[in-house]
Amino acid sequence: MAGSVVVVGSANVDLVVDVPRHPRGGETILGENLRRTPGGKGANQAVAAARGGGADVTFVGAVGRDDDDGELLLASLRQAGVRTDPVSLSELATGTALIAVTADGENTIIVAPGANSEVTIEDGTAGRLGEADVILAQLEIPLETVSSAARARREGATFVLNAAPSRPLPADVLEEVDVLVVNEPEAREVAGREGSPDELAAALNELVPAVVVTLGADGAVVARRRADRTHVPAPKVRAVDTTGAGDAFCGVLAAALAAGTDLADAVHRACLAGALTATRSGAQTAVPSAEELDGYHR
Ligand code: ATP
Repeated sequence: MAGSVVVVGSANVDLVVDVPRHPRGGETILGENLRRTPGGKGANQAVAAARGGGADVTFVGAVGRDDDDGELLLASLRQAGVRTDPVSLSELATGTALIAVTADGENTIIVAPGANSEVTIEDGTAGRLGEADVILAQLEIPLETVSSAARARREGATFVLNAAPSRPLPADVLEEVDVLVVNEPEAREVAGREGSPDELAAALNELVPAVVVTLGADGAVVARRRADRTHVPAPKVRAVDTTGAGDAFCGVLAAALAAGTDLADAVHRACLAGALTATRSGAQTAVPSAEELDGYHR
């Protein structure tokens, strides 16, 4: 049965341009093929939880009151079936990511957070969070909001934190986390040490009850207390654009956990979602549907 997920996070408009190389300081270069697409880790993960995960999803975030970008983002969320009524309208501009992509797929990204810096948990929203099976957050919004979201969960609900983008995590945030999802650089940042993915997962598992370290084409490592660490492989695919693979992974993982799926099985489905997303360009548009994931034979 579908569970309920509330995603608390960022919504950004992505302005993407192809460049022959990245410009040096003080230099202007010509790019081509400008795209304006819906993005932001929070919104991407909400779309993935709904479309790829089949969950009942609500998004808590903020967009600019006075620009068209907010409408673009809300429309994309609604099209995926995400409830957007708790999204607040800010005096600040909608969050914007300026993304330059070279032919070898290397991105440089500048994010202007704008309205995302004003995402808060209002009294009415706390009630919605208290009804969710899973609350999912990332780090593109204020850390106080992340902690408030975690504390609003009901007994038995799960708080999943995708600690991205990489930044140090204060102890009061970490102690609320039930499932931590990080890629390797983020794992090093939160653990405060170097090490293999296995070593990092083990170190982080001392701090939180369950840890998932994603490894790109190599899948993910899952560590839980009082259980053996497991490695979940990703299916082999021809990747064309890995943008949003991590977000698809997190959204589908949260939806599977909300439906009562055990963590290792949920990570299997999340790996499949991440891999299929990497075979298509774009972030939200690349997320596979739940039917597609159901029909895929591993
Ligand atoms: P990004 O920031 O690029 O969205 P990320 O760094 O947060 O991603 P990754 O570990 O790169 O996270 O990818 C998340 C998951 O997506 C992986 O665990 C894997 O399951 C899947 N994935 C990503 N890239 C590939 C790939 N090239 N082939 C197969 N699966 C992939």
